[in-house]
Amino acid sequence: MNTDGLIIREKSTGEQNKSVTVLTRDYGIVRAYVYGAKKIGSRTGAATQLFAFSELGIKESRGSYIIEAAKPKEVFFNLRKDINKIALAQYFAELSECIVPEGENTEDYLKLILNSLMLLMEEKRDEKLIKSVFELSILSMGGYMPNIVACDECGKYEDEFMFFDTSSGNIFCSECKAYGLKVPMSVISAVRHIVLSDRQKIFNFNLSESSLSALSDLAEKYMLATLQRKFKTLDFYHTI
Ligand SMILES: [Zn+2]
Repeated sequence: MNTDGLIIREKSTGEQNKSVTVLTRDYGIVRAYVYGAKKIGSRTGAATQLFAFSELGIKESRGSYIIEAAKPKEVFFNLRKDINKIALAQYFAELSECIVPEGENTEDYLKLILNSLMLLMEEKRDEKLIKSVFELSILSMGGYMPNIVACDECGKYEDEFMFFDTSSGNIFCSECKAYGLKVPMSVISAVRHIVLSDRQKIFNFNLSESSLSALSDLAEKYMLATLQRKFKTLDFYHTI
């Protein structure tokens, strides 16, 4: 089968070979071997390094997949120079591996991570903004969209500040229930923008520094409460 894919995990298996995890455009997450990847000058090896986005020729053989051909389209070279960015990219990869289904058309997930990596590399958006958009978007795509339209009790749409319950994804106005994270209205509007607007526009908004910190806190806590697991790469990102 032929498809495009982003390498999200790379593991050495013996002297010359490696195994990779690929977020493909057409077949979801695919785990495959690359034989001879570590031979000097191996083009397939270079095009299947971590965070390479490549055209792939994949063969199925006795229940495993083998990448026979790979041609790089984008290798995100500049990500590798910055420890913060590469750590965040690895977290995006781990979160994708957790949420993206196997064996389905997953082009939207692939676009989300490619756009996120591109924005990280180009430094056109704040890192916190990219991280929050990635978390809330991938959760929404995976069936965990927060219930962000109105106060879950009285239906109020707007208030000076609102409460976001990270365990249910529900919001409450200032009068109904004072539990959850208290955030300014601008943060609720940003979450609405991220999960409800056109996928091409999700990164296009601005927030003050303090609101961006509140959004970042909300997105990460909602992710952790929803998926109920830890992410090694996220813990590492926070140690930097
Ligand atoms: Zn209310």
